[in-house]
Amino acid sequence: MPDHDVLIVGAGPVGMLLACLLRQDGVNVAILERRVDADARTRAIGIHRPGLDALDAAGLGQAVRAEALVLDGGDVVSRGRTLASLTFSEDRPVLVLPQHRTDALLRRRLEELPGGGILEGRTVTGLRDAGDEVTVVADGPEAPTRQTAGMVVVADGVHSPLRASLGIRWRRRPGSGAYAMADIDDAEAGRRATLFCEPGGLVESFPLPGGRRRWVVRTDAPGMDGTVTADRFRHAIETRTGVRPRLAPGEDPTSFTVAQHAARSFVRGRIVLLGDAAHETSPIGGQGMNLGWLDAVRLAAEILSTRPGRMPELAGWDRRARRSAGAAQRRSLFYMAMGAPVPPAAARARESLIRTLGARPLRRATAGLITMRGL
Ligand SMILES: Cc1cc2nc3c(=O)[nH]c(=O)nc-3n(C[C@H](O)[C@H](O)[C@H](O)COP(=O)(O)OP(=O)(O)OC[C@H]3O[C@@H](n4cnc5c(N)ncnc54)[C@H](O)[C@@H]3O)c2cc1C
Repeated sequence: MPDHDVLIVGAGPVGMLLACLLRQDGVNVAILERRVDADARTRAIGIHRPGLDALDAAGLGQAVRAEALVLDGGDVVSRGRTLASLTFSEDRPVLVLPQHRTDALLRRRLEELPGGGILEGRTVTGLRDAGDEVTVVADGPEAPTRQTAGMVVVADGVHSPLRASLGIRWRRRPGSGAYAMADIDDAEAGRRATLFCEPGGLVESFPLPGGRRRWVVRTDAPGMDGTVTADRFRHAIETRTGVRPRLAPGEDPTSFTVAQHAARSFVRGRIVLLGDAAHETSPIGGQGMNLGWLDAVRLAAEILSTRPGRMPELAGWDRRARRSAGAAQRRSLFYMAMGAPVPPAAARARESLIRTLGARPLRRATAGLITMRGL
């Protein structure tokens, strides 16, 4: 008899959501996390319909709604002209909440459920699948520990050394770019996003709860060589859009590069990859965390519909999750292309395409794509 029905490696938003879904239905789940403190980085902010459904299923949709800002919609602008304006309908809302707050609410929910909280300060260093159970070795605050589980879910993030140790290939998918972002105070942040698809490169501006705004700037663009300082960041926004954001001391931009990958298979025997460990999706479009949650909901359903102690048959889940990841990555690739630096002739062609997608006959379908319909 293994120590746990399911052992999850990694208490990011995806691992925690799966743990909540299983625990509330009585599954014996342990969750091991190498960190000893919460992850304070602000990464994801956008929660789409599938993500909200997942949070509702895990019993924390109301807590998230109470803190999040509901986006009214967004405008796409280029060279001073509004090309498209979208409004999100009530049945497909977009909520905005910084990831560290979402993580905190997930953590609180997990602590409310029977089975205890997260086992922190445990870095999983080895997995051995013996066919009938998996042995998990972790470095801990004292001696290394060894536990067994009927099934192990590896949700240890995009760099996942465990994925590599399982010999699962990590395949590059099209789509890359370099960006910088800063979350800054803005008393007039409002409830609409603006995407500036400028010839000089993308600038995005999203309202955040609490009178703040996130600015994102494409930095692999002419005139942006070298380190992205606050001055260069502000200058890029101003020259591309005419807006001069006020960055207070300490609100320095953070740079990040974007790539897209997917594991060749998300299942290996009794071990399953989940979240960013399974697929890396560009943050442009804000889908990675939502996609991980969607996979987690479907995985929980497979586990819960299988007799306790039995390994669920996951070939169908694996195929569907890989298909969803491929579709999300193609959408992100398109969003990144809409904000790539381009010469004037290409900018004109791009502007007509955006106008067409934002025109009345296609507007609803476009809003559906942006809010992750069909994944
Ligand atoms: C700038 C930016 C903006 C983004 N915006 C959005 C957005 O708006 N919407 C959206 O849906 N997504 C967005 N994303 C993507 C989102 O942040 C990720 O998809 C999400 O964090 C993935 O969650 P995860 O739980 O799979 O992995 P992670 O959040 O990376 O968590 C993995 C956890 O595993 C732990 N761990 C690692 N190795 C081990 C080990 N060996 N043993 C134990 N624990 C281990 C780590 O400490 C970590 O806590 C954005 C990403 C970035 C960078």
